[in-house]
Amino acid sequence: MAQTYDDGYIYYPGLTAFPATLGHEFAGEIVEVGSKAINKRTSKPYEKGEPVTVEEMVWCGECKPCCDGYPNHCERLQEIGFSIDGAYAEYIAVPAKLCWSLQKLKGKYDNIYKIGSLVEPTSVAYNAVIERGGGIRPGENVVILGAGPIGLAAAKILKTAGAAACIMSEPDENRAALARKMGADYIINPQKENFVDMVKEYTDNEGAALYLEATGLPHIVTDDIQNAIWECKAVNSTVVIVARAEQRMPVCGEFFQVRRARIVGAQA
Ligand SMILES: [Zn+2]
Repeated sequence: MAQTYDDGYIYYPGLTAFPATLGHEFAGEIVEVGSKAINKRTSKPYEKGEPVTVEEMVWCGECKPCCDGYPNHCERLQEIGFSIDGAYAEYIAVPAKLCWSLQKLKGKYDNIYKIGSLVEPTSVAYNAVIERGGGIRPGENVVILGAGPIGLAAAKILKTAGAAACIMSEPDENRAALARKMGADYIINPQKENFVDMVKEYTDNEGAALYLEATGLPHIVTDDIQNAIWECKAVNSTVVIVARAEQRMPVCGEFFQVRRARIVGAQA
């Protein structure tokens, strides 16, 4: 459940223009096709009945960030389910350029629409840990803070990339159980255990190549991440900020200098 301020509004500093129908992780069947709607992978028109998933970000393709290859940072961005109507609806009209066919997944999964709806959060996690975080070498350790959809997807991606110890920090038992299913080797309950001590124990004091901030509570977890970097031996750690939050993160430059560490942001 989303955390809220006293007035009931959600903690979310990103692009919104409510009231808008929610729903930004979705897939569906094409029922109508515009005359110029081309499948960008095949360069052929989409067909009625074709299953597709859809990018959540409606990027323009013409501004400088788009032309430079960063559509996530489009200057004219709209976001389906945030600033324009989303997919909690029977039908939704979307630009063909945002669609990705699921046709080839037919027969491989019981429900390709569920799989398709997971593409968005999995892409957010991939962008965070691989594109922005630079990925890992097989055998390196990772620490993920927060087992929400992004943290869970990141666990699977990083284990697939060869993570040795995949450590998840998550106080909620249900989410922790999901994290184990997604490949987490160790779970830290940060409300009951000392985060830094546990990271040291699980990594033999080596620490992690990558720390993923996926809690949305940077003002609470930043100290833990920095202390782990400082107290463990590893140099070159990367901290990736993927959760949206407007709180400041107090940073000790000395820790990042001595441990040759870095912080990067990842959006969508
Ligand atoms: Zn643009």
